[in-house]
Amino acid sequence: MQVRFSKFEIQNLQIMISYKELGLVNTRAMFAKAVDGGYAIPAFNFNNMEQLQAIIMAAVETKSPVILQVSKGARNYANQTLLRYMAQGAVEYAKELGCAHPEIVLHLDHGDSFELCKSCIDMGFSSVMIDGSALPYDENVALTKKVVEYAHQYDVTVEGELGVLAGVEDEVAAEESHYTKPEEVIDFVTKTGVDSLAISIGTSHGAYKFTPEQCTVDPQTGRLVPPPLAFDVLEAIEKKLPGFPIVLHGSSSVPQEEVDTINANGGCLKAAVGIPEEQLRKAAKSAVCKINIDSDSRLAMTAAIRKTFAEKPAEFDPRKYLGPARDNMKKLYIHKIVNVLGSNDKLIN
Ligand SMILES: [Zn+2]
Repeated sequence: MQVRFSKFEIQNLQIMISYKELGLVNTRAMFAKAVDGGYAIPAFNFNNMEQLQAIIMAAVETKSPVILQVSKGARNYANQTLLRYMAQGAVEYAKELGCAHPEIVLHLDHGDSFELCKSCIDMGFSSVMIDGSALPYDENVALTKKVVEYAHQYDVTVEGELGVLAGVEDEVAAEESHYTKPEEVIDFVTKTGVDSLAISIGTSHGAYKFTPEQCTVDPQTGRLVPPPLAFDVLEAIEKKLPGFPIVLHGSSSVPQEEVDTINANGGCLKAAVGIPEEQLRKAAKSAVCKINIDSDSRLAMTAAIRKTFAEKPAEFDPRKYLGPARDNMKKLYIHKIVNVLGSNDKLIN
């Protein structure tokens, strides 16, 4: 029997790339192991080569699975095709560094439409987030369900979100946070079929997570101490959905030594404050199995570049300041993996 395809179908066949061919994995098995093992997978955003190299070097050295996150802003900045090939290159790079079986996810961070999620799935992403958290509940359910139905045809996993995080990061901005309502989670997960759920329990996007008024002051250091995360809300969600993978966004800690280095070398970051690492450590031991970190990497990169510029004003070879920036990011990623998330030594090889 002769099979005839329409011109549209032929175009579609030609552009469809499976992440499996690229050596990437989805989040399903990774999250199941993380929930059982009481650790969390790092989800690091990347926009350029040095960041990606630092993430892969850190993941290989610590034998950690890793999620490479691409935001809509990163796609606009670096070009979607280039980023996708970089992720494919990352798998090969990890092998070259001696990791025989790398577990690398390519994930869309904060997808805001079905079309964007579909475009990423068709290009070889192994996981997508559809963020309908700003929509009315029923619309969030309908949009998320539509993405899940498409994604699951290709064994791509989907993260949904309930509750609103405050803060600003790329295109995502909200004035006020609204904690996730535990009474909604069973209905949302059942109706949509999502594989993981991002919740709001007091984390926040960006390097200015809290105003000084929201914080207390540590009398010993004079540093701002942010309000604690709502672990009671997390526990209530875990009771409703035992073993279900939970995701925390906006979980940078804004290392004060990086902020100090930036400010000592011509920068001006005032009252930047993040989530204390001991709170993230506690979260990682629970059903939280993916923790998103972006701002900390930006700070580590900027601190190293500013320091190089201040110390070597005659330097103009980009490798001489991007190299130290890469080293500093790698150090930060290793610290997060080993000392905060506990995802080290989890690869089979
Ligand atoms: Zn986010």
